[in-house]
Formats: sequence, C-alpha cells, structure tokens
Amino acid sequence: MLNWLRRPKHGRISRRDIPAGLWVKCSRCGAAVYHRDLERALKVCPKCGWHHRLGAEERLSITLDEHSFEEMDANLASGDPLRFDGYREKLSEARANTGNADAAIVGVGGIEGYRTAVGALDFAFMGGSMGSVVGEKITRVAERALQDRLPLVIFSASGGARMQEGALSLMQLAKTSAAVGRLHEAHLPYLSVMCDPTTGGVTASFAFQGDVIIAEPGALIGFAGRRVIEQTIRRKLPERFQTAEFCLEHGLIDMVVPRPELRGVLARLLRFFGAPRAVAPEPAAAAPDGEAQPAPGEPGGPEVACP
Ligand SMILES: [Zn+2]
Repeated sequence: MLNWLRRPKHGRISRRDIPAGLWVKCSRCGAAVYHRDLERALKVCPKCGWHHRLGAEERLSITLDEHSFEEMDANLASGDPLRFDGYREKLSEARANTGNADAAIVGVGGIEGYRTAVGALDFAFMGGSMGSVVGEKITRVAERALQDRLPLVIFSASGGARMQEGALSLMQLAKTSAAVGRLHEAHLPYLSVMCDPTTGGVTASFAFQGDVIIAEPGALIGFAGRRVIEQTIRRKLPERFQTAEFCLEHGLIDMVVPRPELRGVLARLLRFFGAPRAVAPEPAAAAPDGEAQPAPGEPGGPEVACP
C-alpha cells in the first residue's frame, strides 16, 4: 500500500532519471520540460501555459530589438543608510546572484523599431523590492523619456517597498509617481507591464499609473497579501483573487497578454500612441508590417503624444 502511494504519477519523471540541467520541472503543473523547449517558449510551460518568472535582463532581451539597448546608471548602488542589520550581506548576495547592482535595469532601446525609454524590475534581486536605487532609476528613466520625448515602458515584478531602507523606500512611491505624472502632463505615453508578482509599494505607485496597464497571464497583482485582507474584512476571498485575470474582469487593468505576444502588442500600442520609429526595425519584425515610417527627426514625423 505504501509503495502504491509513493508511486510517481504518470507523465512525471523522477529526479534520478534525468541529467542535471537538461530538464526542468514546471513549478505549476510539475511536468518535466526540456530546458531548451522552455527557453524557446520564453519560459512559458508548454504543458500548462504557466509563465515562469524572468530576470530583468531576460525580460529586456526578449522584448527589445537586438543590440538596441543602451543601459543607464548601471552602477547606481544602494548604501546602507539605516545600518539595517544584515542588509549589506543581503545586497552583496543579490549582486553576486544576479550580476546587477540593484533590482532594476533601465535605459533606452527599440521595440520593433520604436525608440523607447524602458525599465525592468528583477524579482531575483531581493524580491524586486523598491529601495532608493530602484526609485531613483525609475525616476531617471522617466526623466530621460521626458527630455528626449520618448514613450516609457516599465516591466514590474516586485514584492513592494524595501523594508531595509524604511522611510527612504516609502519616499520612492511619491518620487516615481511624480516622475510618471510629468510624462502624462507632457502627453508622452507610459505603458506599464505587470509581471508575476507585482505587489505592495510598486502597485501603490508607478505600476498602476500607466496609460495602458498590461499584465502577464496568472501574474499575482495586489497591494496587501490575501491573508491580511481576509483577516481584516473577515471574509473568505475568491480563489482567483489577485490574479491578472481577476484584475482584468474587475476593471483594474486593461489587458492580459501572453508573453509570446507581448512585444508585438507593445509595438502596436506605441504605434497607436504615435511614437516615432527611430530605431531601424529588425528585418523579421518589420517584414509583415510593411508600413513606411518617417526616419528619426524627419520633418513631418509623428510626435509622441497621447490622443
Ligand atoms: Zn506547467
């Protein structure tokens, strides 16, 4: 009886049978997926469609045109302003694991030829938490968009404000909100993409302030955690509460877009908002489109503006 209980389910492969690194186990359905197939599918499980998390670099590399990215402020790094116990160690560990100085990568790049200010948060770096560096980088990339009259696209994946920086983290909510607010006043489009998970102070600031708010399927989106809310309101919440799909049904976000379609959807939105096509489009991306776009800075070229 015990043997029967322990017998692995059909279709699953036990760890002992597979060479390390070739197969990965889907964290949602448990299926063993060939590593290269998962990479080719942009880390979307071919069995159940679960969107596995991407690092900030992976995110930018699948979104931006090849060789188009110019990173800004790569070395901006956090000190330990409050001398919070263990913070320095956590930072060095995260830096060693991700190869980045903090939890955001920002810069300017092309999306199917549309020159765009862009930022991505990295959940692998201390839960993508927003301390003074993440806040400053999001602010600077928004200011760069303002200065160069570029649209802004930000991919969020964050547990919220970084508690090790206390009030300095909370100040980033106001700072980033003001920065994206200035884009709105200047009629520059800001597209916010919420990836799994987007919670806490990041949802309470720039992630929910996009002109268009997009989420990846299944992404966890919310401010406080489910348990905290249930205890506060003394009610059981629906099963799908705080998923991208639930947020869409309740009018909190505009679109849920599967990862393989995301780059194309962003490009269509940028065209809709009249973004100039300043970067030469990649041949593969440009061919089916076939529309002639004005060259960078050409007179008569479209202004980047909200309708
Ligand atoms: Zn799966």
